Amino acid sequence: MSVRKHPRTPPARERHAHIAGGGIAGLAAAAFLIRDGNVPGENVHVYEKLDVMGGAMDGAGDPEDGYVIRGGRMFTFPAYECTWDLFRTIPSLEDPDTSVKAEMNEFNRIHESHAETRLMSGSRRIDASNNQLTTRHRLQMARLLATPEERLGDTRIEEWFSDGFFETNFWYVWATIFAFQPWHSVAEVRRYMYRFFQEFPQLHTMEGIDRTKYNQYDSMILPLRRWLDEKGVDFQYGCEVTDMDIVTDRAGRTVDRIHMESGDSHETVDVDPTDMVFVTNGSMTDGSDLGAMDEAPETKQTGASWELWRNLAEDNPQFGNPEVFAGNVQETKWESFTVTLHNTDLFEHIVEFTQEEPGNGLTTYVDSNWLMSTVVAAQPHFANQPDDVKVFWGYALFPDRKGNYVEKKMSECTGREILEELCYHLDCEDRLPEILEDVNCIPCMMPFITAHFQPREPGDRPRVVPDGSNNLAFLGQYAEMDRDVVFTVEYSVRSAMTAVYEFLDLDQDETPPISKYYRKPGVLLDGIKAAYR
Ligand SMILES: Cc1cc2nc3c(=O)[nH]c(=O)nc-3n(C[C@H](O)[C@H](O)[C@H](O)COP(=O)(O)OP(=O)(O)OC[C@H]3O[C@@H](n4cnc5c(N)ncnc54)[C@H](O)[C@@H]3O)c2cc1C
Repeated sequence: MSVRKHPRTPPARERHAHIAGGGIAGLAAAAFLIRDGNVPGENVHVYEKLDVMGGAMDGAGDPEDGYVIRGGRMFTFPAYECTWDLFRTIPSLEDPDTSVKAEMNEFNRIHESHAETRLMSGSRRIDASNNQLTTRHRLQMARLLATPEERLGDTRIEEWFSDGFFETNFWYVWATIFAFQPWHSVAEVRRYMYRFFQEFPQLHTMEGIDRTKYNQYDSMILPLRRWLDEKGVDFQYGCEVTDMDIVTDRAGRTVDRIHMESGDSHETVDVDPTDMVFVTNGSMTDGSDLGAMDEAPETKQTGASWELWRNLAEDNPQFGNPEVFAGNVQETKWESFTVTLHNTDLFEHIVEFTQEEPGNGLTTYVDSNWLMSTVVAAQPHFANQPDDVKVFWGYALFPDRKGNYVEKKMSECTGREILEELCYHLDCEDRLPEILEDVNCIPCMMPFITAHFQPREPGDRPRVVPDGSNNLAFLGQYAEMDRDVVFTVEYSVRSAMTAVYEFLDLDQDETPPISKYYRKPGVLLDGIKAAYR
């Protein structure tokens, strides 16, 4: 569908864009408006609730107070078409003569992923190449691939697969790479199976997974923000968009005013019908809360993105159903933690215990009640990280279960208690408390981290540009696009490109299509062989 053109739509250089949310979706929209649409940077206004841009792609801190990343990202070269289209044209922060993408290529050439120890049980490395699928599981997978998405509706994964499936190596590898839970949407699993079919044979070794040189704030967000700064984009920090006035008439729905809270003041921005408005409706890191070495984080129940979406959807059913995603924190939360080590004993112990070099992989401890995993990135992981300080990251998918060692729910634990539990799984609890001296662990509770995987029906997410919307587009995880998979940077960047191209009437064929590697006979054969391993 193409957007109805206002009778007096001016040329792009005279139009303004209002972007609510400065995550990668909002920043990518700003970049495509300028790069591909010739909208002047100073006409692009980004309203961000926080005092920093980047959203989920964060990376902050210093050696003294400790570093924090709420998440660490894995990428695949073939499946991030729009992301690479963007970052091929953004200069790297450290070397302006090279692009962010070229810097990544060089880094991955030197640090190729090859996980030796994807799963561990006690001190035993599990042979994760044996996926433990039964014939019944394989048939259930084949039937899933053959069932059209619209027939799956809000079916949960646990309703599709038989019980034993959730105890297989395949499930442990799959669930901890992509963060699926048994109660999540089986339709989304189907999308992942198609989108990442080419990764099946090496899912357990993570070969083919690309990473950035540093955390993604330093390596992707900062260069992009600098590029946008240079173009004159108007960034407004500490500015929460709370509502929009939408005029409905025979011509459709048109935003004509934006309401926002900035500091203690309520402000409004008038929007011309020919202006473009982009909203990131729903955020996986909204409501996230940091704890400390001796303090547990809080579990919040809502956040700005959900409240804005609720307000917009209230009178506009085609803007989706936020409750489906944001209404069950028990099912959508999990917790991550970032560890900064001046005393590097624990870091060296992890490397030795898992026999995994830094930068190589991701190790999941399958006996852990919380289902803990650790990711030891190549060091340094922060641009300002000194040589004698190490950093690693971890997460656990079941924060409401009691630990095996610490008899508390993870959600109630301090950073220290989380590390004590980890030390138990690393078989070094006898070295407590010395091994934790001069170590800082900052836990992060994310109440909505998997909200996008909640079972959903068609219509629960609005289309990027909903039918009848004249100047409002939705970006990010909660904007519906066919076939693409949601817990990815790519989904957000693709939504931004789609929205910008539609509003500016640019050639949609220029948007890189979603690759269909599963159609290649070799890929198909290798994928089937992998299911029989
Ligand atoms: C732990 C973790 C691991 C991940 N792993 C991977 C991975 O391996 N590979 C991968 O590709 N992706 C991964 N992701 C996902 C990826 O980072 C996200 O999908 C992507 O960054 C989302 O970007 P976004 O801009 O759509 O939303 P967000 O990053 O959530 O940004 C939304 C922004 O909007 C702001 N905002 C919201 N509401 C308002 C409002 N009303 N007014 C003003 N501002 C508002 C928020 O503060 C935020 O800055 C991971 C994410 C996390 C957290």
